[in-house]
Amino acid sequence: MKRKAESNTSKSTTLSKSHWSAGLLKSMEDPELMVKEDDKIVVIKDKYPKAQFHYLVLPKEDIHSIWQVKKNHQDLLMHMHDIARDLVERQTDHEFIIGYHAMPSMQRLHLHVISTDFNSPYLKTKYHWNSFTTPFFLHSSDVSCQLHEEGEINKVSPERCKDYLNTKLKCHKCTLQPKNMPDLKRHILTHLDKQKQ
Ligand code: AMP
Ligand code: ZN
Repeated sequence: MKRKAESNTSKSTTLSKSHWSAGLLKSMEDPELMVKEDDKIVVIKDKYPKAQFHYLVLPKEDIHSIWQVKKNHQDLLMHMHDIARDLVERQTDHEFIIGYHAMPSMQRLHLHVISTDFNSPYLKTKYHWNSFTTPFFLHSSDVSCQLHEEGEINKVSPERCKDYLNTKLKCHKCTLQPKNMPDLKRHILTHLDKQKQ
């Protein structure tokens, strides 16, 4: 697996701000990418969007990843979710999913808000695809529910993450199992055409 990923169980990090994985911290201050800001969060456009609309909601609090989220972050996660819902409601003619990657590659907790057309030149690999269309993608509402009811977020082991990312390609809208990414990318366009009719 090529993905440059941290362990989802790591408790702290000493990675410097110049490390590639700190790119989101710089982007949070980039007016070209920033969409919205309040006292608790910043919303940015994903620099390499994997769909027509792809935003990231990040807390200002220095929380390394979803695996450092504690019970006392419940309100923050709810706020991030509300901000995401607000973005989604503005794009009434697009479906979205809102959630976290089980094994994030970039520092600072970030909530993906992504339209499900997945129509983007940046969506290139099987790992990209499976990171949004398998249980590797932790839906924000499920995460908040777990935190509320169990006081913690259910861990996903690195082995399981790997299995999800290596899952055989499958269309997210029908039963087709394309043999490769070019076939999948051609196929998902047919769902977009149907939507327009
Ligand atoms: P994850 O796998 O959840 O860590 O996803 C990280 C996301 O950050 C991906 O969707 C990338 O396209 C995006 N990304 C990577 N570098 C940057 C950057 N410097 N600024 C904004 N978004 C970025
Ligand atoms: Zn399909």
